[in-house]
Amino acid sequence: PIVLGFETSCDETGVGIVRGTELLADAVATSVNEHARFGGVVPEVASRAHLEAMVPTVHRALETAGLKLGDIDAVAVTAGPGLAGALLVGVAAAKAYALALGKPIFGVNHLAAHVCVDQLEHGKLPQPAMALLVSGGHSSLLLVPDVATDVRPLGGTIDDAAGEAFDKVARVLGLGFPGGPHIDRAAREGGDPDAIAFPRGLTGPRDAPFDFSFSGLKTAVARWVEAKQRAGEPVPVADVAASFQEAVVDVLTRKALRACKENGVDHLLIGGGVAANSRLRTMAVERAEAVGVRVRVPRPGLCTDNGAMVAALGAELVAAGVEPSRLDLPADSSMLITDVTA
Ligand code: ATP
Ligand code: MG
Ligand code: FE
Repeated sequence: PIVLGFETSCDETGVGIVRGTELLADAVATSVNEHARFGGVVPEVASRAHLEAMVPTVHRALETAGLKLGDIDAVAVTAGPGLAGALLVGVAAAKAYALALGKPIFGVNHLAAHVCVDQLEHGKLPQPAMALLVSGGHSSLLLVPDVATDVRPLGGTIDDAAGEAFDKVARVLGLGFPGGPHIDRAAREGGDPDAIAFPRGLTGPRDAPFDFSFSGLKTAVARWVEAKQRAGEPVPVADVAASFQEAVVDVLTRKALRACKENGVDHLLIGGGVAANSRLRTMAVERAEAVGVRVRVPRPGLCTDNGAMVAALGAELVAAGVEPSRLDLPADSSMLITDVTA
């Protein structure tokens, strides 16, 4: 089936088109620059930007795919979780297209879509798979027996998401927003990952094995930098970036591989914006190889929010014979990951 997918949970207006597991178009408009001076996404600004970008982005996707609206067999849309007002724009648009075309609509879970997108690049996901989803809003470990019907959370962040920690530490270091790519680059350009021993949150023997905490790390970095500044010494930005990044990536990969081991799973999928991190990709592959686990990471453009991932999950749902959503499906800002569809 040819599926048109809509994503508007945060600051990317994504419209994607897939045929089964084949990617036909992935058009994304982002309002990230409008949020940069605030150091974080402003919900009202994001919603308005989605409204303005929606129709042109749909047209761009159709043009890329060389298709007409009449060629679409089903519509899929992120129903949650995400920013309420932002989600509403995508859900309303998807409903309008589904109604006008007389085609079924699937309201889908954003996190499950982040998992499913890898199928567009690396083919069918092995069942079961383990998924580590790390983005600006989420850090979750998911056991995925079947991405269309059965996704089980093993743990998640109890405070800041991994990407949020990257963004906040970048701010402390005077780097730009979003911070992840800046920290990644600073670390690669001469940073020593062992320069400073920053704390590894929730890795004690009594700590929840699959939960994450990054706020203590963020505070430790801020204190370290402040102490340097008070002493009138220069801040070694590259070393701080590399050492911070090492702490995050160490915890993420350790917990993800432990989850694989304890659940007898030998495929680890990494998704979300932080999956673009070069150190995470390298360390995950190294550590996974050592224990016989295969790592799958979509290319960076598919890791950040996009419409193709939503279309990919829609196609998977059609193939699995899952019942479509009702046309009055709501946007659900706190949608649970256990619900793949709305
Ligand atoms: P959601 O959490 O709802 O998926 P989001 O927009 O915050 O929404 P993404 O677009 O998937 O999530 O990811 C953005 C996050 O990824 C930002 O926090 C950004 O700093 C981080 N990021 C992007 N590239 C890198 C990188 N190379 N290294 C580390 N973090 C990165
Ligand atoms: Mg984003
Ligand atoms: Fe996302």
